[in-house]
Amino acid sequence: MKSFDYIIIGAGAAGLLLADAMGKDSFFSKKSILLLDKNAKQNNDRTWCFWEKGQGAFDDILHKKWNTIRFAGKEINEKYAIAPYQYKMIKGIDFYASILKKLEGYSNITFITEEVISVSNSPEENLVKTTNKTFIGKTIFNSIFDPQYPLQQKKYPVLQQHFIGWFIKTKQPLFDAKTATFMDFSIPQKGNTRFMYVLPTTENEALIEYTLFSEHLLKEQEYEEAIQAYITQKLGIDNYEIIEKERGSIPMTCYSFTQKNTANLLYIGTAGGWTKASTGYTFKSTQKKVVQLIQHLKDQKPLQNFGKRDKFWFYDLLLLDILYRRNDLGQSIFEALFKNRNPQLIFKFLDEDTTLFEDIKFISALSPMPFIKALFRRLF
Ligand SMILES: Cc1cc2nc3c(=O)[nH]c(=O)nc-3n(C[C@H](O)[C@H](O)[C@H](O)COP(=O)(O)OP(=O)(O)OC[C@H]3O[C@@H](n4cnc5c(N)ncnc54)[C@H](O)[C@@H]3O)c2cc1C
Repeated sequence: MKSFDYIIIGAGAAGLLLADAMGKDSFFSKKSILLLDKNAKQNNDRTWCFWEKGQGAFDDILHKKWNTIRFAGKEINEKYAIAPYQYKMIKGIDFYASILKKLEGYSNITFITEEVISVSNSPEENLVKTTNKTFIGKTIFNSIFDPQYPLQQKKYPVLQQHFIGWFIKTKQPLFDAKTATFMDFSIPQKGNTRFMYVLPTTENEALIEYTLFSEHLLKEQEYEEAIQAYITQKLGIDNYEIIEKERGSIPMTCYSFTQKNTANLLYIGTAGGWTKASTGYTFKSTQKKVVQLIQHLKDQKPLQNFGKRDKFWFYDLLLLDILYRRNDLGQSIFEALFKNRNPQLIFKFLDEDTTLFEDIKFISALSPMPFIKALFRRLF
């Protein structure tokens, strides 16, 4: 059985970002690191979008970036200049290729394509079994997400950000390639929080994603019919070709993912609760978490102490409590935000970078009653 100082399970966003951060940091140069994934990461399995101020770590592999976003609701349909932010898009395959290439240059990192079938964790050692081998790791970072964990408890509601997206191509130049539709709520809500993303990469091509923040997934046909109706009725496009599709379901919950961490096993990425509970965005928050984790390891702090609850956890909890009970309120909440506050403040708040004064400014844009009720329900 081969032993490693660190074993990272999963070469997705979290596993790759962590492996790269460890590989380039001289603190870990004498440590042996194994990265395991059942998949060789040679396919384009997702598209990541995120907002960012100025230059970012992945600007060299960006597929597209926008300086303007659009928000549409029942009463508003506005475009907003978002400087100093930009809304950025990366193709999964470009990210995987770029990081895997970097990992080849780190002699202490080994990437093996094997499916992990079990992880046994004890204070002495961790055993990671794959279909063909067993590895020993002093410390394990595990990004395999088991959706059953948050669903086994009732204290914190679990919603999903679930979606299907179509990459379409038109013969005529029909898209405004300078503007990303961040949220279009002007579609039937059917008692839920439902919206469309329209992310044009050229005047002829766009990713159109039908997205819900709700408890239960839909049948595949329902997403597809909604996208089709949106393209023809809202965008007025009859002649188009579907080039690619993607689908996803991202947990939105304040459930404490960290309770499964031990002295030598840490869950990372979505499995570690690194997804922003109120939005489902994970890519940018994972970059931030990796920086914090590297510092945590260098400071030799206990793994169980990594990640703590703060005021933003509580704000997310209130919003999720509301959307869980009254899923139809999502459109009015997001519309009130975009109507009353600028996107720069919204992005800053969702990035968890706002001061208390800015939090109050942000929250006061919203109709207070649902939040007061949710607060009282949590307190009493
Ligand atoms: C289609 C799609 C679009 C998305 N778009 C966005 C977006 O625009 N912005 C955003 O912030 N987030 C987005 N997300 C959320 C996304 O899940 C996260 O951003 C990010 O990928 C989470 O990183 P992760 O490392 O936790 O999980 P993943 O990236 O899913 O990585 C987990 C890895 O574990 C591997 N694995 C699983 N089981 C095993 C096993 N038994 N043995 C070995 N390996 C295993 C998988 O193959 C995978 O490589 C999207 C998700 C999807 C599915």
